Amino acid sequence: MEKKIALYVVPTPIGNRGDITLRALEILKSVDIILAEDTRTSGQLLKHYEISKSLQSFHIFNEHQVVEKLITRMKGGETFALVSDAGTPGISDPGFLLIRECLTAGLTVECLPGPTALIPALVNSGFPTDRFVFEGFLPHKKGKQTLLKKLAEEDRTIIVYESPHRLVKTLEQMKEFFGNERRVSVSRELTKLHEETFTGPLEQVLVHFQQKEVKGEIVIVIDGKRE
Ligand code: SAM
Repeated sequence: MEKKIALYVVPTPIGNRGDITLRALEILKSVDIILAEDTRTSGQLLKHYEISKSLQSFHIFNEHQVVEKLITRMKGGETFALVSDAGTPGISDPGFLLIRECLTAGLTVECLPGPTALIPALVNSGFPTDRFVFEGFLPHKKGKQTLLKKLAEEDRTIIVYESPHRLVKTLEQMKEFFGNERRVSVSRELTKLHEETFTGPLEQVLVHFQQKEVKGEIVIVIDGKRE
């Protein structure tokens, strides 16, 4: 007999709503409850796909309080899907805690393949894709310089998420540790109207983004250190 899935982790579009998969829609329709980082955002998305389903809020501020109850309900036979505001839950988004607790409780979790920002940014960069590291968001203050210094020695392609208002400052700090010539690629607003990928030596990329007000969502990809 097939094992029943208690929790489906369902990636949702990072911009273009056409990027949802057929199976994601099928699963969202079939589960008993959808756990959403923001019930309003996900409610609008579901409405777009004409899915009406009961939503329960699940985010970093309540995950510790609700996780035990959710596990009990899953053990009782209810099925859940977890979605975040955009992309794959658990990737710089809530998910890890619930998934770990489900597995510890012997429940089955299945993550559907689907949208996430780091993979298109990596592939767009033209840097080696065979080995890479994903650092999520860099620390804002404490530890940022130490981490950048360490990453400057990394020989795999490096991917980080960044907010638009910190992009220039981060590129300046990267220049300090990685040098002017290290190649970087900034992907902005992936899958959206103002999508842009700008790739070149750090110095040149920095000048490009210093010349305008940076808006939208950003992924920075850095070429690994070459001997
Ligand atoms: N779970 C998401 C994923 O799978 O990519 C990431 C969520 S994280 C809270 C949001 C960050 O992801 C943004 O600040 C940005 O760095 C990146 N991101 C999300 N959507 C993006 C897009 N359309 N274009 C570029 N970066 C994006």
